[in-house]
Amino acid sequence: MFVPSPWRADFPAIAALQRQHQTYLDNAATAQKPQALLDALIHYYSHGAANVHRAQHLPGALATQAFEASREKVAQWLNAPSLLQIVFTQGTTSAINLLAYGLEHEFAPGDAIVISALEHHANLLPWQQLALRKQLDLVVLPLDRHGLIDVEAARSLIGPRTRLLAVSQFSNVIGAWQPLDQLLPMARAVGALTVVDGAQGVVHGRHDVTAMDCDFYTFSSHKLYGPDGLGVLYGKADALARLQPWQYGGEMVQMADYESASFRPAPLGFEAGTPAVGSVIGLAATLEYLGGLDASAVEAHEAALHSQLLRGLNDREGIKLLGEPQVALASFVVEGVHNADLASLLTEQGIAVRAGHHCAMPLLKRFGLGGAIRVSLGLYNDSDDLVRFFLALDKALEILR
Ligand code: PLP
Repeated sequence: MFVPSPWRADFPAIAALQRQHQTYLDNAATAQKPQALLDALIHYYSHGAANVHRAQHLPGALATQAFEASREKVAQWLNAPSLLQIVFTQGTTSAINLLAYGLEHEFAPGDAIVISALEHHANLLPWQQLALRKQLDLVVLPLDRHGLIDVEAARSLIGPRTRLLAVSQFSNVIGAWQPLDQLLPMARAVGALTVVDGAQGVVHGRHDVTAMDCDFYTFSSHKLYGPDGLGVLYGKADALARLQPWQYGGEMVQMADYESASFRPAPLGFEAGTPAVGSVIGLAATLEYLGGLDASAVEAHEAALHSQLLRGLNDREGIKLLGEPQVALASFVVEGVHNADLASLLTEQGIAVRAGHHCAMPLLKRFGLGGAIRVSLGLYNDSDDLVRFFLALDKALEILR
């Protein structure tokens, strides 16, 4: 049965990609953009760009007003208590680097940072390098047989030396929600800071950072159908107060002299230099668009496509899934077939999926793999996209086996 996406026409790139005979199934890497975002960008840039927070003139005032309204919109989207708790960064990667440098003074040799075995490099390497700089222990929580962070193991690995826990909300490789409701309280109980990498989680459903009760939550706009070069870091007020500036320059300074300077509190103290003004304004338009969709219809659509994807993969001989994907994506390998060969035959047939280590090399190694193929869905995908994928997969496997 054909499952259409009621939102497909809202994303002009999908029709353009189809004219190029491309089926886009790499949404966990980045998502296509709704017309509402394109309209907002054209409006902003065609009515007069200006820098924010510094110009006295009208275009500057209007840009600043729109920029700060976007911050308010993001705060509402996450149910953050105040817009002052929303810091704009360049992406999840830069947000986590900001945390790893900005919290460095909090750590002493012998302290422990806890992450998990499934972290994206963005939530592994900043902490690993901090641990090396400060002689800390980097503790890696193992996974259980379902591909979830092992809660029982966490009970013994999160302890009095733990100063910070940094984990993903939703794995970009396994496609599973992680047990944050159990892990975060363990960290809080030992007085550790909690960081949630929401880069994938934020895309599926609405998430309430106040209810989650994490110290920091971060995501990238481009995966949430928004513009590139923009990320969001939410922090609790007292957690943000513990953060020191990481990058220095314009806008973040309160007073500067040749010998010394003082800096603004969050959020501006962590937004050195000219921010991505157009992208910030565009993100608000994207959230406005997403907020207008019927959330339960989106959820049902994502679930229907995901079960079609899993059914198709499970029905085929020799396909092995990584973990137990719950929604949005699935990563797999095929017995006796190299993922790069398969990926190149899929590419030749106009199927845009991701092959390789998915920026999680240590995780792939734990699975005993050098790479895997990942199919990831967006709200504009329909069942015909998957039909085309499976036709191409069968053809490729016929050649390779
Ligand atoms: N964390 C996860 C779970 C991701 O999937 C990604 C991107 O794929 C990132 C972090 C990094 O995001 P960005 O490259 O937008 O900084």
